[in-house]
Amino acid sequence: MTGYKHIMLAVDFSKESDAIGARAVDLMRHYDAKLTLIHVVANLYDEPVYDLMSSFPTDIEEQLLDSARHSLTALAARLGVGDMERVVEIGTPKSGIVQAARERGVDLIVLGSHGVHGLELLLGSTANAVLHAAPCDVLAVRVGG
Ligand code: AMP
Repeated sequence: MTGYKHIMLAVDFSKESDAIGARAVDLMRHYDAKLTLIHVVANLYDEPVYDLMSSFPTDIEEQLLDSARHSLTALAARLGVGDMERVVEIGTPKSGIVQAARERGVDLIVLGSHGVHGLELLLGSTANAVLHAAPCDVLAVRVGG
């Protein structure tokens, strides 16, 4: 093993994202690796709230994707990696992260041990699901004490 060549940083824009990102950037520099940043926009049609609404505005998905692209660009700039690849997908976070990692031959996924969904759990649901399905190593950066 010669070290990691392609690291993927998965972020949900919770307040710990910068700290998790800093860890990924440290590893990127240490291994002289490529870095890809990813955010997966949850598919609204999978959400329970969808049943309560007759219809979403047609462009809401596009607005969510745009907003995620802006947030990812801003995060990359704060981390000093504005030139690295940024991916915004629509779907479920677990599948989106794992599929994107597989397609790109990523050898390390960095994410938070908890995000906006998982504070009450030992390991957040996305972190746990990615850990089980990933084709490569996964680093769950400890957040939230
Ligand atoms: P969770 O398991 O949902 O508490 O989230 C754990 C970690 O998974 C977060 O700190 C992020 O690093 C990552 N994550 C969660 N949701 C997403 C998402 N929609 N897109 C990309 N990464 C995510």
